[in-house]
Amino acid sequence: MAANLPRRRIVLLGATGSIGESTLRVIAAHRDRLELVGIASHSRHQRLAEIAREFGVKHVGLADDAALAAARTSDAFSAGTVFYGGPVGLAEIATLTEADTVLVAVVGTAGLEPALAAIAARKTIALASKELLVMAGKFVMAAARASGSQLLPVDSEHNAVFQCLQGHRTEDVRRIVLTASGGAFRDWPLERLAEATPTDALKHPNWAMGPKITVDSATLANKGLELIEAQWLFGLRAEQCEAVLHAQSIIHCLVEYRDGSILTQLCPPSMTFPIQHALLFPDRAPCPTDDALSLHKPFTLDFRPVEAERYPMLGLAQAAMVAGGNAPAVFNAANEVAVAAFLGGQVSFLAISGVVEQVLAQVKNTEPPSLPAVMEADAEARRVARALLPTFNSSSR
Ligand code: NDP
Ligand code: MG
Repeated sequence: MAANLPRRRIVLLGATGSIGESTLRVIAAHRDRLELVGIASHSRHQRLAEIAREFGVKHVGLADDAALAAARTSDAFSAGTVFYGGPVGLAEIATLTEADTVLVAVVGTAGLEPALAAIAARKTIALASKELLVMAGKFVMAAARASGSQLLPVDSEHNAVFQCLQGHRTEDVRRIVLTASGGAFRDWPLERLAEATPTDALKHPNWAMGPKITVDSATLANKGLELIEAQWLFGLRAEQCEAVLHAQSIIHCLVEYRDGSILTQLCPPSMTFPIQHALLFPDRAPCPTDDALSLHKPFTLDFRPVEAERYPMLGLAQAAMVAGGNAPAVFNAANEVAVAAFLGGQVSFLAISGVVEQVLAQVKNTEPPSLPAVMEADAEARRVARALLPTFNSSSR
């Protein structure tokens, strides 16, 4: 039967990252249905060469010029490899005629332009990079409506909501609740948070992910970004999007309808499930790399409200979501700068929310008339955040 189903031809942006590697596992397990035709990353060309050889990929993109130059002269790539460089090159590889689906898993804002190019080229977008909708949800959704390009959520919570909405009307949704594990510090005494180091923050209790998103899980900035993303993806109002702590990360969302019924989706905390769902949608196939949830052993699912004091970043994200305009982009940009400074040992863990709060207060919120206006707000937020860092540096905290 599988032989009769169409093959999906995929470009994978962010192939060398955590989502990228999970995507490769899914593609390797379903080579009859999924074909990798293009890969791109920032600079890790040796890993791209390995992937290109394993999957027979001809089109390779590198955002970093030096890495691109090294890759071009490397004999690790086959002679017929076509290289794409820089942001323009990533947009080109995202619009390859031989591809029908682009999985966007680039960390940060670099995925925005290639994703918009792919949308304009009417590719199906499997979307992992949450920054795109957070920054430019209005423009990305309008572009998708205009071209008819389908957006399939890869982030586990959004993929879960997407599954729970199938066969239902969005206007019947009362609210959606995204679950959060609570990250590395969920059980730490509050007074210890001031001493939290990057090594502590990177010990996620449930998920194995890239470093930036793992820190965002510890602050719950990640859940804040996800609420904003959900609002755009599913056409909801800010007050319809909530978060709850769920330590086991087995339930990924709760979708409450107006009659009080709640639908949910369960699977183990592994990204291969939502990635496979998005890439094979609307078909289903066994998920080969993970053990399914066993119902033959006792297990507990518990929920608790988010403590505002422990997770000020969630409150800041929700305020930005309600404010709308440029505020979500400013929240995102300030958070990126603050998290990088925390990971680099420049500022303390608690400084992350301090920096973001001050940047949101200092950058004037306006309704962006165009994408360049969003990019300007993003750049301004980064400038303001960088200028604030010395006042938060580790020695003066
Ligand atoms: P990683 O840090 O593990 O990987 C990031 C990837 O992005 C790498 O392939 C990196 O390339 C590439 N990259 C970085 N900068 C650029 C650039 N300027 N141009 C092109 N490629 C670039 O991140 P994750 O895989 O964890 O996350 C990727 C995205 O998916 C993020 O937006 C994250 O929020 C989202 N996400 C992640 C989840 C997860 O479980 N990890 C879950 C849900 C969403 P290189 O290796 O060469 O530097
Ligand atoms: Mg998520």
